[in-house]
Amino acid sequence: MKIFFPKELDSEARISITPDFLKKYIDSGLKVSVQTSIGLHLGFKDEIYKELGAEIVDRKKGLKEGNIICSVNKLSGEDLIDVKENSLIVSFLDPFNDKGLVEDLKAKNISSISMELIPRTTRAQKMDALSSQANLGGYAAVLIASNILSKSFPMMMTAAGTISPSKVFVVGVGVAGLQAIATAKRLGAKVEAFDTRPVVEEQVKSLGARFVKIDIGETEETSQGYAKELTAEQIDLQRAGMKKVCSNSDVIITTAQVFGRKAPIIITSEMIEDMNPGSVIVDMAVGTGGNVEGSKPNENVDLNGITIVGNTNLPGEVAVHASQVYSANIFNLIDEFWDQKNSILEITTSDEILSGCLVTHKGEFVNSIVKERYS
Ligand code: NAD
Repeated sequence: MKIFFPKELDSEARISITPDFLKKYIDSGLKVSVQTSIGLHLGFKDEIYKELGAEIVDRKKGLKEGNIICSVNKLSGEDLIDVKENSLIVSFLDPFNDKGLVEDLKAKNISSISMELIPRTTRAQKMDALSSQANLGGYAAVLIASNILSKSFPMMMTAAGTISPSKVFVVGVGVAGLQAIATAKRLGAKVEAFDTRPVVEEQVKSLGARFVKIDIGETEETSQGYAKELTAEQIDLQRAGMKKVCSNSDVIITTAQVFGRKAPIIITSEMIEDMNPGSVIVDMAVGTGGNVEGSKPNENVDLNGITIVGNTNLPGEVAVHASQVYSANIFNLIDEFWDQKNSILEITTSDEILSGCLVTHKGEFVNSIVKERYS
Protein backbone atom coordinates (compact mmCIF):
# COMPACT_ATOMS: atom_id res chain seq x y z
CA MET A 1 0.00 0.00 0.00
CA LYS A 2 1.45 3.34 -1.09
CA ILE A 3 0.85 6.71 0.57
CA PHE A 4 1.67 9.88 -1.40
CA PHE A 5 2.16 13.42 -0.10
CA PRO A 6 1.93 16.02 -2.91
CA LYS A 7 3.48 19.49 -2.79
CA GLU A 8 0.87 22.13 -1.97
CA LEU A 9 -0.32 24.44 -4.73
CA ASP A 10 -0.37 28.24 -4.87
CA SER A 11 0.99 30.13 -1.89
CA GLU A 12 0.32 27.46 0.75
CA ALA A 13 3.39 27.20 2.98
CA ARG A 14 2.16 24.31 5.12
CA ILE A 15 2.88 20.70 4.18
CA SER A 16 1.23 17.40 5.09
CA ILE A 17 4.33 15.46 6.12
CA THR A 18 7.31 16.75 8.06
CA PRO A 19 10.31 14.38 8.01
CA ASP A 20 9.84 13.16 11.60
CA PHE A 21 6.71 11.24 10.56
CA LEU A 22 8.33 9.19 7.79
CA LYS A 23 9.73 6.52 10.08
CA LYS A 24 6.34 6.08 11.73
CA TYR A 25 4.64 5.35 8.38
CA ILE A 26 7.45 3.08 7.21
CA ASP A 27 7.49 1.17 10.50
CA SER A 28 3.76 0.56 9.99
CA GLY A 29 4.51 -1.14 6.69
CA LEU A 30 3.42 1.64 4.32
CA LYS A 31 5.45 2.69 1.28
CA VAL A 32 5.85 6.46 1.29
CA SER A 33 6.36 8.79 -1.66
CA VAL A 34 6.59 12.58 -1.54
CA GLN A 35 6.56 15.09 -4.38
CA THR A 36 9.90 16.64 -5.32
CA SER A 37 10.74 19.68 -3.14
CA ILE A 38 7.65 19.26 -0.95
CA GLY A 39 9.31 20.85 2.09
CA LEU A 40 12.22 22.74 0.59
CA HIS A 41 10.77 26.17 1.49
CA LEU A 42 10.61 25.08 5.16
CA GLY A 43 14.19 23.81 5.21
CA PHE A 44 13.28 20.12 4.65
CA LYS A 45 15.38 19.06 1.66
CA ASP A 46 14.42 16.08 -0.53
CA GLU A 47 17.56 14.28 0.65
CA ILE A 48 16.21 14.24 4.21
CA TYR A 49 13.00 12.55 3.08
CA LYS A 50 15.01 10.15 0.89
CA GLU A 51 17.40 9.21 3.69
CA LEU A 52 14.44 8.43 5.92
CA GLY A 53 13.01 6.02 3.34
CA ALA A 54 10.68 8.01 1.09
CA GLU A 55 10.61 7.81 -2.68
CA ILE A 56 10.83 11.26 -4.28
CA VAL A 57 8.51 11.41 -7.27
CA ASP A 58 6.87 13.91 -9.62
CA ARG A 59 3.25 14.86 -8.96
CA LYS A 60 1.72 12.77 -11.75
CA LYS A 61 3.52 9.58 -10.75
CA GLY A 62 2.63 10.07 -7.08
CA LEU A 63 -1.04 10.66 -7.84
CA LYS A 64 -1.21 7.69 -10.23
CA GLU A 65 0.44 5.23 -7.86
CA GLY A 66 -0.90 6.39 -4.48
CA ASN A 67 -3.53 4.31 -2.68
CA ILE A 68 -3.75 7.04 -0.05
CA ILE A 69 -3.03 10.69 -0.94
CA CYS A 70 -2.71 13.23 1.86
CA SER A 71 -2.41 17.00 1.50
CA VAL A 72 -3.28 20.17 3.39
CA ASN A 73 -5.52 21.68 0.73
CA LYS A 74 -7.77 19.81 -1.70
CA LEU A 75 -6.43 18.44 -4.97
CA SER A 76 -7.34 20.25 -8.19
CA GLY A 77 -9.82 18.87 -10.73
CA GLU A 78 -6.85 18.22 -13.01
CA ASP A 79 -5.14 16.17 -10.27
CA LEU A 80 -8.19 13.96 -9.91
CA ILE A 81 -7.77 12.74 -13.51
CA ASP A 82 -4.65 10.90 -12.33
CA VAL A 83 -6.04 9.53 -9.04
CA LYS A 84 -6.92 5.82 -9.14
CA GLU A 85 -10.40 4.49 -8.51
CA ASN A 86 -10.87 3.17 -4.94
CA SER A 87 -7.99 5.23 -3.58
CA LEU A 88 -8.43 7.55 -0.59
CA ILE A 89 -7.70 11.26 -0.51
CA VAL A 90 -7.33 13.10 2.79
CA SER A 91 -7.20 16.91 3.12
CA PHE A 92 -9.19 20.00 4.05
CA LEU A 93 -11.87 19.55 1.38
CA ASP A 94 -14.30 22.43 1.99
CA PRO A 95 -17.15 20.04 1.09
CA PHE A 96 -20.01 22.43 1.85
CA ASN A 97 -18.71 25.05 -0.58
CA ASP A 98 -17.34 22.84 -3.33
CA LYS A 99 -20.20 20.75 -4.62
CA GLY A 100 -18.41 20.15 -7.94
CA LEU A 101 -15.41 18.48 -6.30
CA VAL A 102 -17.53 16.32 -4.03
CA GLU A 103 -19.69 15.12 -6.92
CA ASP A 104 -16.57 14.43 -8.96
CA LEU A 105 -15.12 12.29 -6.16
CA LYS A 106 -18.34 10.31 -5.90
CA ALA A 107 -18.59 9.80 -9.66
CA LYS A 108 -14.94 8.70 -9.89
CA ASN A 109 -15.36 6.29 -6.98
CA ILE A 110 -12.61 7.96 -4.95
CA SER A 111 -12.95 7.81 -1.17
CA SER A 112 -12.36 11.11 0.56
CA ILE A 113 -11.85 12.33 4.11
CA SER A 114 -12.42 15.96 4.96
CA MET A 115 -10.20 17.06 7.84
CA GLU A 116 -12.74 19.78 8.73
CA LEU A 117 -15.22 17.04 9.58
CA ILE A 118 -13.20 15.05 12.11
CA PRO A 119 -15.66 14.74 15.01
CA ARG A 120 -14.93 16.55 18.26
CA THR A 121 -14.69 13.44 20.43
CA THR A 122 -12.03 12.36 22.89
CA ARG A 123 -10.98 9.49 20.59
CA ALA A 124 -10.55 11.83 17.62
CA GLN A 125 -8.80 14.67 19.46
CA LYS A 126 -5.35 13.68 18.15
CA MET A 127 -6.67 13.94 14.57
CA ASP A 128 -8.44 17.28 15.05
CA ALA A 129 -6.75 19.48 12.44
CA LEU A 130 -9.23 22.35 12.83
CA SER A 131 -8.08 22.74 16.41
CA SER A 132 -4.36 22.23 15.74
CA GLN A 133 -4.43 24.92 13.05
CA ALA A 134 -6.80 27.34 14.85
CA ASN A 135 -4.51 27.33 17.87
CA LEU A 136 -1.53 28.52 15.80
CA GLY A 137 -3.79 30.88 13.83
CA GLY A 138 -4.83 32.63 17.05
CA TYR A 139 -1.18 33.07 17.97
CA ALA A 140 -0.24 34.44 14.52
CA ALA A 141 -3.21 36.86 14.51
CA VAL A 142 -1.94 38.59 17.63
CA LEU A 143 1.64 38.83 16.35
CA ILE A 144 0.47 40.33 13.04
CA ALA A 145 -1.71 42.87 14.87
CA SER A 146 1.14 43.82 17.20
CA ASN A 147 3.41 44.36 14.20
CA ILE A 148 0.95 46.70 12.48
CA LEU A 149 -0.04 48.60 15.62
CA SER A 150 2.26 51.54 16.25
CA LYS A 151 2.05 51.01 20.02
CA SER A 152 3.70 48.60 22.42
CA PHE A 153 1.52 45.90 23.98
CA PRO A 154 2.91 45.97 27.54
CA MET A 155 2.74 48.75 30.06
CA MET A 156 6.19 50.27 30.62
CA MET A 157 7.19 52.51 33.47
CA THR A 158 10.25 54.38 32.33
CA ALA A 159 12.20 57.45 33.36
CA ALA A 160 10.60 59.16 30.38
CA GLY A 161 7.12 58.42 31.63
CA THR A 162 4.59 55.61 31.72
CA ILE A 163 3.41 53.84 28.58
CA SER A 164 -0.08 52.41 29.04
CA PRO A 165 -0.77 48.87 27.82
CA SER A 166 -2.55 48.30 24.52
CA LYS A 167 -6.12 47.07 24.72
CA VAL A 168 -7.00 43.89 22.86
CA PHE A 169 -10.57 42.65 22.39
CA VAL A 170 -11.09 39.04 21.30
CA VAL A 171 -14.51 38.19 19.87
CA GLY A 172 -15.21 34.46 19.78
CA VAL A 173 -13.38 32.36 22.34
CA GLY A 174 -12.98 28.91 20.82
CA VAL A 175 -9.60 27.34 20.15
CA ALA A 176 -8.22 30.33 18.17
CA GLY A 177 -9.69 32.91 20.55
CA LEU A 178 -8.22 31.25 23.63
CA GLN A 179 -4.75 31.22 22.08
CA ALA A 180 -5.18 34.84 20.95
CA ILE A 181 -6.03 35.82 24.53
CA ALA A 182 -3.10 33.86 25.95
CA THR A 183 -0.67 35.35 23.41
CA ALA A 184 -1.87 38.94 23.92
CA LYS A 185 -1.64 38.48 27.70
CA ARG A 186 1.91 37.11 27.39
CA LEU A 187 2.82 40.23 25.42
CA GLY A 188 1.44 42.34 28.23
CA ALA A 189 -1.76 43.73 26.69
CA LYS A 190 -4.97 44.42 28.59
CA VAL A 191 -7.33 41.81 27.19
CA GLU A 192 -11.12 41.60 27.04
CA ALA A 193 -13.16 38.91 25.33
CA PHE A 194 -16.70 37.93 24.42
CA ASP A 195 -18.39 34.75 23.22
CA THR A 196 -22.04 33.80 22.87
CA ARG A 197 -21.43 30.56 24.79
CA PRO A 198 -21.61 31.43 28.51
CA VAL A 199 -19.39 28.45 29.48
CA VAL A 200 -16.45 30.40 28.07
CA GLU A 201 -16.50 33.05 30.80
CA GLU A 202 -14.51 30.93 33.26
CA GLN A 203 -11.89 30.07 30.61
CA VAL A 204 -11.44 33.76 29.76
CA LYS A 205 -11.00 34.67 33.43
CA SER A 206 -8.54 31.84 34.00
CA LEU A 207 -6.29 33.43 31.36
CA GLY A 208 -6.37 36.72 33.23
CA ALA A 209 -8.65 38.51 30.75
CA ARG A 210 -11.98 40.26 31.38
CA PHE A 211 -15.14 38.66 30.02
CA VAL A 212 -17.48 41.24 28.50
CA LYS A 213 -21.01 40.45 29.60
CA ILE A 214 -23.76 41.13 27.09
CA ASP A 215 -27.30 39.89 27.59
CA ILE A 216 -28.40 38.50 24.23
CA GLY A 217 -30.93 36.01 25.62
CA GLU A 218 -30.78 32.22 25.23
CA THR A 219 -27.88 30.83 23.19
CA GLU A 220 -27.22 27.23 22.27
CA GLU A 221 -24.31 25.03 21.33
CA THR A 222 -24.22 21.73 19.45
CA SER A 223 -23.20 18.41 21.04
CA GLN A 224 -19.75 18.99 19.49
CA GLY A 225 -19.32 22.35 21.30
CA TYR A 226 -20.01 24.58 18.27
CA ALA A 227 -22.11 27.73 18.67
CA LYS A 228 -25.53 27.81 17.00
CA GLU A 229 -26.48 30.73 14.76
CA LEU A 230 -27.88 33.82 16.52
CA THR A 231 -31.10 35.52 15.42
CA ALA A 232 -30.89 38.96 13.75
CA GLU A 233 -32.20 40.53 16.98
CA GLN A 234 -29.51 38.81 19.06
CA ILE A 235 -26.76 40.01 16.70
CA ASP A 236 -28.11 43.58 17.06
CA LEU A 237 -27.99 43.26 20.86
CA GLN A 238 -24.46 41.88 20.64
CA ARG A 239 -23.29 44.77 18.43
CA ALA A 240 -24.83 47.35 20.77
CA GLY A 241 -23.21 45.66 23.79
CA MET A 242 -19.79 45.55 22.12
CA LYS A 243 -19.80 49.08 20.67
CA LYS A 244 -18.06 50.79 23.59
CA VAL A 245 -15.45 48.05 24.08
CA CYS A 246 -14.66 48.17 20.35
CA SER A 247 -14.22 51.93 20.29
CA ASN A 248 -11.79 51.69 23.24
CA SER A 249 -9.74 48.86 21.75
CA ASP A 250 -6.41 49.18 19.95
CA VAL A 251 -6.73 45.68 18.52
CA ILE A 252 -9.77 43.52 17.82
CA ILE A 253 -9.38 39.86 16.87
CA THR A 254 -12.56 38.22 15.60
CA THR A 255 -12.81 34.43 15.39
CA ALA A 256 -16.60 33.88 15.47
CA GLN A 257 -17.68 30.94 13.36
CA VAL A 258 -20.90 28.98 13.03
CA PHE A 259 -20.15 25.45 11.85
CA GLY A 260 -21.09 24.77 8.22
CA ARG A 261 -22.52 28.29 7.75
CA LYS A 262 -21.36 31.74 6.75
CA ALA A 263 -19.71 33.60 9.63
CA PRO A 264 -21.85 36.35 11.23
CA ILE A 265 -21.03 40.04 10.59
CA ILE A 266 -20.38 41.32 14.08
CA ILE A 267 -18.29 44.46 13.60
CA THR A 268 -20.07 46.96 11.34
CA SER A 269 -18.53 49.94 9.49
CA GLU A 270 -20.29 52.21 11.98
CA MET A 271 -18.51 50.49 14.87
CA ILE A 272 -15.17 50.76 13.04
CA GLU A 273 -15.71 54.52 12.50
CA ASP A 274 -15.82 54.94 16.29
CA MET A 275 -12.37 53.36 16.73
CA ASN A 276 -9.16 55.38 16.99
CA PRO A 277 -7.08 55.74 13.81
CA GLY A 278 -4.10 53.42 13.95
CA SER A 279 -6.14 50.59 15.49
CA VAL A 280 -6.01 47.12 13.96
CA ILE A 281 -8.70 44.49 13.40
CA VAL A 282 -7.80 40.91 12.43
CA ASP A 283 -10.78 39.11 10.91
CA MET A 284 -9.96 35.44 11.41
CA ALA A 285 -13.32 34.45 9.89
CA VAL A 286 -12.61 36.24 6.60
CA GLY A 287 -12.34 32.93 4.73
CA THR A 288 -15.92 31.95 5.63
CA GLY A 289 -17.62 35.28 4.93
CA GLY A 290 -16.01 37.46 7.60
CA ASN A 291 -16.99 38.93 10.98
CA VAL A 292 -16.01 42.45 9.96
CA GLU A 293 -17.79 44.63 7.43
CA GLY A 294 -15.34 45.58 4.68
CA SER A 295 -12.73 42.87 5.35
CA LYS A 296 -11.32 41.26 2.22
CA PRO A 297 -9.65 37.84 1.88
CA ASN A 298 -5.88 38.18 1.76
CA GLU A 299 -5.89 41.96 1.85
CA ASN A 300 -5.19 44.57 4.48
CA VAL A 301 -7.96 47.13 4.08
CA ASP A 302 -7.49 50.68 5.39
CA LEU A 303 -10.74 52.21 6.65
CA ASN A 304 -10.24 55.75 7.97
CA GLY A 305 -6.82 54.81 9.32
CA ILE A 306 -7.95 51.52 10.82
CA THR A 307 -6.31 48.44 9.31
CA ILE A 308 -8.51 45.39 8.76
CA VAL A 309 -6.35 42.30 8.24
CA GLY A 310 -7.94 39.58 6.09
CA ASN A 311 -5.24 36.89 6.11
CA THR A 312 -7.01 33.58 5.25
CA ASN A 313 -4.06 31.42 6.18
CA LEU A 314 -2.82 32.54 9.58
CA PRO A 315 -1.48 29.09 10.55
CA GLY A 316 0.65 29.33 7.38
CA GLU A 317 2.52 32.23 9.02
CA VAL A 318 4.06 29.67 11.37
CA ALA A 319 4.22 26.97 8.74
CA VAL A 320 6.84 24.68 10.30
CA HIS A 321 4.85 24.13 13.46
CA ALA A 322 1.50 24.17 11.66
CA SER A 323 2.88 21.43 9.36
CA GLN A 324 4.26 19.47 12.30
CA VAL A 325 0.89 19.31 14.07
CA TYR A 326 -1.03 18.74 10.81
CA SER A 327 1.34 15.87 9.94
CA ALA A 328 0.61 14.42 13.39
CA ASN A 329 -3.16 14.73 12.82
CA ILE A 330 -2.88 12.91 9.48
CA PHE A 331 -0.61 10.18 10.85
CA ASN A 332 -2.89 9.58 13.83
CA LEU A 333 -5.88 9.27 11.51
CA ILE A 334 -4.20 6.76 9.19
CA ASP A 335 -2.69 4.86 12.11
CA GLU A 336 -6.09 4.52 13.79
CA PHE A 337 -7.51 2.61 10.81
CA TRP A 338 -4.38 0.87 9.50
CA ASP A 339 -4.38 -2.91 9.81
CA GLN A 340 -0.66 -3.64 9.76
CA LYS A 341 -1.05 -7.44 9.70
CA ASN A 342 -3.09 -7.41 6.51
CA SER A 343 -1.65 -4.16 5.09
CA ILE A 344 -5.06 -2.60 4.56
CA LEU A 345 -6.79 0.55 5.65
CA GLU A 346 -9.99 -0.49 7.36
CA ILE A 347 -12.67 1.92 6.18
CA THR A 348 -15.96 1.12 7.82
CA THR A 349 -18.73 3.67 7.57
CA SER A 350 -20.19 2.47 10.87
CA ASP A 351 -17.14 3.80 12.76
CA GLU A 352 -18.12 7.02 14.57
CA ILE A 353 -15.04 8.94 13.36
CA LEU A 354 -15.24 7.78 9.75
CA SER A 355 -18.98 8.25 9.47
CA GLY A 356 -18.35 11.90 10.37
CA CYS A 357 -15.36 12.73 8.21
CA LEU A 358 -15.79 10.46 5.17
CA VAL A 359 -17.34 12.55 2.42
CA THR A 360 -17.40 9.89 -0.31
CA HIS A 361 -16.79 6.14 -0.22
CA LYS A 362 -17.56 3.39 -2.74
CA GLY A 363 -19.42 5.82 -5.00
CA GLU A 364 -21.71 7.11 -2.21
CA PHE A 365 -21.87 10.18 0.03
CA VAL A 366 -21.24 9.26 3.67
CA ASN A 367 -21.24 12.34 5.97
CA SER A 368 -24.88 13.04 6.82
CA ILE A 369 -24.80 16.80 6.08
CA VAL A 370 -23.09 16.23 2.72
CA LYS A 371 -25.66 13.52 1.93
CA GLU A 372 -28.56 15.80 2.86
CA ARG A 373 -27.21 18.75 0.83
CA TYR A 374 -26.09 16.97 -2.32
CA SER A 375 -28.18 13.80 -2.75
P1 NAD B 1 -15.48 27.84 16.08
O1 NAD B 1 -14.22 28.04 15.28
O2 NAD B 1 -16.62 27.16 15.45
O3 NAD B 1 -15.98 29.28 16.58
C1 NAD B 1 -15.13 30.14 17.30
C2 NAD B 1 -15.88 30.74 18.46
O4 NAD B 1 -16.81 31.70 17.98
C3 NAD B 1 -16.70 29.74 19.28
O5 NAD B 1 -16.27 29.77 20.62
C4 NAD B 1 -18.14 30.25 19.12
O6 NAD B 1 -18.90 30.05 20.29
C5 NAD B 1 -17.91 31.71 18.84
N1 NAD B 1 -19.03 32.44 18.25
C6 NAD B 1 -19.95 32.04 17.32
N2 NAD B 1 -20.80 33.05 17.03
C7 NAD B 1 -20.40 34.12 17.77
C8 NAD B 1 -20.86 35.45 17.91
N3 NAD B 1 -21.91 35.91 17.24
N4 NAD B 1 -20.19 36.25 18.76
C9 NAD B 1 -19.14 35.83 19.48
N5 NAD B 1 -18.65 34.58 19.39
C10 NAD B 1 -19.28 33.73 18.55
O7 NAD B 1 -15.17 27.11 17.46
P2 NAD B 1 -13.94 26.22 17.85
O8 NAD B 1 -12.77 27.06 18.15
O9 NAD B 1 -13.75 25.21 16.81
O10 NAD B 1 -14.41 25.53 19.21
C11 NAD B 1 -15.72 25.54 19.70
C12 NAD B 1 -15.73 24.78 21.03
O11 NAD B 1 -15.46 23.40 20.84
C13 NAD B 1 -14.70 25.27 22.04
O12 NAD B 1 -15.29 25.37 23.30
C14 NAD B 1 -13.67 24.19 22.07
O13 NAD B 1 -13.02 24.09 23.34
C15 NAD B 1 -14.52 22.97 21.78
N6 NAD B 1 -13.67 21.89 21.21
C16 NAD B 1 -13.81 20.62 21.68
C17 NAD B 1 -13.00 19.60 21.16
C18 NAD B 1 -13.12 18.19 21.66
O14 NAD B 1 -13.89 17.94 22.53
N7 NAD B 1 -12.38 17.25 21.10
C19 NAD B 1 -12.09 19.89 20.15
C20 NAD B 1 -11.99 21.19 19.68
C21 NAD B 1 -12.80 22.19 20.23
